[in-house]
Amino acid sequence: MTKEYVTDERRLLHGGDYNPEQWKDYPEVLEQDIELMKKSGVNTVSVGMFSWASLEPKEGVYDFEWLDQVFDRMNSIGGKVILATPSGARPAWMAKKYPEVLRVDSLRRKQLYGARHNHCYTSPYYRSKTQEINRKLAERYQNHPALLLWHISNEYGGECHCNLCQEAFRGWLKARYDNSLEKINQAWWGPFWSHTITDWNQIESPSPIGENLVHGMNLDWRRFVTDQTIDFYKNEIVPLREVTPDIPITTNFMSDNPEFIPFRGLDYSKFAKEVDVISWDAYPAWHNDYEETYELASKVAFINDSFKSMKQKPWLLMESTPSLVNWHQYNKPKRPNMHYLSSMQMLAHGSDSNLYFQWRKSRGASEKFHGAVVDHDGSAENRVFKEVSQVGATMDELSAKIVGTQRKSEVGLLYDWESDWALEDAQGFGLTTKHYPQTLQKHYQAFWEKDIPVDVITKENTFEDYRLLVVPMLYLMSEETIKRLNNFVANGGTLVSSYITGLVNERDLTYLGGWKKELQEIFGIEPLETDTYYPGDSNQIVYADQTYTVKDYATVIEVKNAEVLARYADDFYAGTAAVTSNEYKKGKAYYIGARANEAFNREFYNQLIEELDLKPLLKVEHNIGVSVQGREEADQTSIVFIMNFTEEKQIVNIIEKAQDSFTGEEVTGEITLQPYEVKVVDKII
Ligand SMILES: [Zn+2]
Repeated sequence: MTKEYVTDERRLLHGGDYNPEQWKDYPEVLEQDIELMKKSGVNTVSVGMFSWASLEPKEGVYDFEWLDQVFDRMNSIGGKVILATPSGARPAWMAKKYPEVLRVDSLRRKQLYGARHNHCYTSPYYRSKTQEINRKLAERYQNHPALLLWHISNEYGGECHCNLCQEAFRGWLKARYDNSLEKINQAWWGPFWSHTITDWNQIESPSPIGENLVHGMNLDWRRFVTDQTIDFYKNEIVPLREVTPDIPITTNFMSDNPEFIPFRGLDYSKFAKEVDVISWDAYPAWHNDYEETYELASKVAFINDSFKSMKQKPWLLMESTPSLVNWHQYNKPKRPNMHYLSSMQMLAHGSDSNLYFQWRKSRGASEKFHGAVVDHDGSAENRVFKEVSQVGATMDELSAKIVGTQRKSEVGLLYDWESDWALEDAQGFGLTTKHYPQTLQKHYQAFWEKDIPVDVITKENTFEDYRLLVVPMLYLMSEETIKRLNNFVANGGTLVSSYITGLVNERDLTYLGGWKKELQEIFGIEPLETDTYYPGDSNQIVYADQTYTVKDYATVIEVKNAEVLARYADDFYAGTAAVTSNEYKKGKAYYIGARANEAFNREFYNQLIEELDLKPLLKVEHNIGVSVQGREEADQTSIVFIMNFTEEKQIVNIIEKAQDSFTGEEVTGEITLQPYEVKVVDKII
């Protein structure tokens, strides 16, 4: 049973990670913090992520006084506390006394104490100590009016290869394969290279110095790592559910940088089911020198819509930086107005918060130059503090209109962790040009540029919730997924898929006898070969009288019933089908056989948008680089953010009736947006 995290006041949360334990020797700093929070419109802090050594300085000796003060101070200004459990970093005394808590890497090297996020997820001792400290926290703050939400650990990730984890992996496999080595050997293609397993103890997790080429095992290991991490999380929350049954629970998810693709370490589609509210940490490298600002904005929107779609509920931005980070290759500060714009983008895509890492810059160690609301100068007058305050004021004003409102979409774009893992592992195609998540980003962008809301879904979502389902490069497809796609199209849905789709099953074993018959029926074709290009190779396709460039991949297709929409210009398959469409029962299925350029994606999806009459939340004419996104109330009123993600002025034309969300003035017609400017409007019905 999941819980709502909303506060009594139903307000947007503004604030972020606060580390008062680093400033216990500076009481004047702690006093200043409260005044600065009031000035910047901060109403929520997240505390305790890495505080174990401050909470339990010696085994069994606790100190909560400093944390009591944080709760009381926040309460005194009407603020709230998101309380973290401290398992992301353990005290030195624990690692010394109980070395089983330390992680072992894939080279079987036991890690020393240090850094963070390096504990074993299986260790019985670590699990019991975690429950113990979590129970203490819950008992101490269960009745405190400032307690808003539990934040479990921090950015779960990584894997452990210790003996305890090896045993757990074997146990997981026994459950998955009905205790049968025969089944394991079938699933993992055992006789290949004489890798038949004859005793459970022969199974070791993948390692660079051992087994790493049995793809079925690699895939199972990644599934196990997700399950074991979730199991550790579930162990953490036992006392919290018991002592504070009404306080909702989250843990902060991530994206993979610098490409800004979904985080590959854990299958979040499974993890999302276990939290009450999704929260995540967004650190896009704004103003970089390898992509346009709007391209990155589209990638951020993609991840936002992915987290939104996992629960179909508002989510929380748990961490972001008001200026810069300390861990990108180049740590460039946000330009003026970018912080405001990027914060509004989060609200537009379903966030009920803008929370930062961090409130105050550390004085020492690795995060001393990571951006913060309060810099080393302690000033409320610098550029960053002022822009944060502006965000705070706007959020305060918009709270009543936004909190809890939804985003709706008729388009689903499927991302699948297991397929991504399997394709990355596959030895074939272009080893560095597979680009599955990057390809999805490009397909998403074609809709984003036209302001058509897209849900980035997983296999856990219901396909029938959408009119259009976009499923490119779904390399791994179980028979069940094929059946679901078949039903979707048969019942009237429109499906788009592409090259490198439906090649292996959930065990990473190829399908025999050609492309699955069900897929052939849906698409009215059979892919015969996948041609992989060298980076210098290319081809062309002619689609709707225009020529588009093809790179990386081209599928040679045998057409059965489908209509041919584009043909190849070159190579031994010149003149044959490259893009097809097929009427199947009540629906339609498109197959894009080649990796064509962005111009093709734009044209192809524009035609589909027109054909299906897909509509943006508010009709606004604009150039590429402006994004119009927003949220709807149940009574159909909408709040819409018109955002300029370019370095130029943009004239946009608001076609439907709208009014300025702050002044109530009508803003229909042409308006000018300055670089990075955002206009917030209410759609008038
Ligand atoms: Zn372990």
